[in-house]
Amino acid sequence: MPTHPRTRLRGPWLRSLAAIASLLLPRLTVAAEPPAMPLVIAHRGASGYLPEHTLPAKALAHAQGADALEQDVVMSKDGVPVVLHDTTLDAVSDVAVKFPGRARADGKHHCTDFTLAELRTLALTERLDPATGRQTYADRFPRGQSRFGIVTLEEELEFLSGLNRTTGRAVGVYPEVKSPAWHRSEGHDVAKGVIDILHRHGYATKADPCHIQCFEADEVTRIRRELGWQGKLVQLIGGKDQDHLVTPEGLAAIAAVADGIGPPIERILDPEGQPTDLVARAHAAGLAVHPYTLRRDRVPPWAGSFDDLQGALFAAGVDGVFSDFPDLTIAWLRHADRRPE
Ligand code: CA
Repeated sequence: MPTHPRTRLRGPWLRSLAAIASLLLPRLTVAAEPPAMPLVIAHRGASGYLPEHTLPAKALAHAQGADALEQDVVMSKDGVPVVLHDTTLDAVSDVAVKFPGRARADGKHHCTDFTLAELRTLALTERLDPATGRQTYADRFPRGQSRFGIVTLEEELEFLSGLNRTTGRAVGVYPEVKSPAWHRSEGHDVAKGVIDILHRHGYATKADPCHIQCFEADEVTRIRRELGWQGKLVQLIGGKDQDHLVTPEGLAAIAAVADGIGPPIERILDPEGQPTDLVARAHAAGLAVHPYTLRRDRVPPWAGSFDDLQGALFAAGVDGVFSDFPDLTIAWLRHADRRPE
């Protein structure tokens, strides 16, 4: 939660007190009333401005006031959890140039084929769209410019802890366990790797500023029941093949092990921009709702502007959101009096 300068106690202070009180109250009114202060999760860092999952992108998100930084976690060949979105390296690095002949039959360079020492030699860059051969978001950071490198999950947690110390803030973490079944087939237990590191860094209970997220429902259950994770846990929800997760039975099953859901925005707002009933049904099941992903450069046709999209999403009552542009999301919330100055 943001801290406030002592010289500006009154309005913002009262508002934040009211917000805290509303968080502490029983969840009876949750479905009817949007949460006072939705969580702003920096999606892969401030990835609208700097290459995703680089420390500069994380530092910028921290400085912009994000409540949590997201880490996608995959394993190196030698079993080290590293922060990368894909299980392959091609779209965000110079791996094909640095390691010719190391692609698999599918033409791709897989993270689990490279040791941490090898991964450290790669230059990270803005994401490439393999279909067009151009960067995915044309107006974002220029590909190949400046120098960025891959970091381990542990290094990112240390970096964040340093930033929290120097700024006096308590920005949280939001790691995603990527493709656990695929990792298992490669001989790695990525969920265990993530949890061990979180425990070592003091993230252990629901009072700690940490959510683990995962798309695979079996793995979410395993994280809670077999791996003993007692902190906050979020079931990510994808496309049509996961429709069963948002039925009443599906949501009840999620609520038995997890604290929230992470659906795509399209499950919260229909193609006309009208809210679906998912937020109300999730809240009734006792689940928080943190949809993905707000992107200024991917606004749906029904919305006249990025702020139209943000307004509709927050009006739908979500409890948090993944944003590539944490500064713009925070600015919207402040403007709407949903967050202290
Ligand atoms: Ca993610």
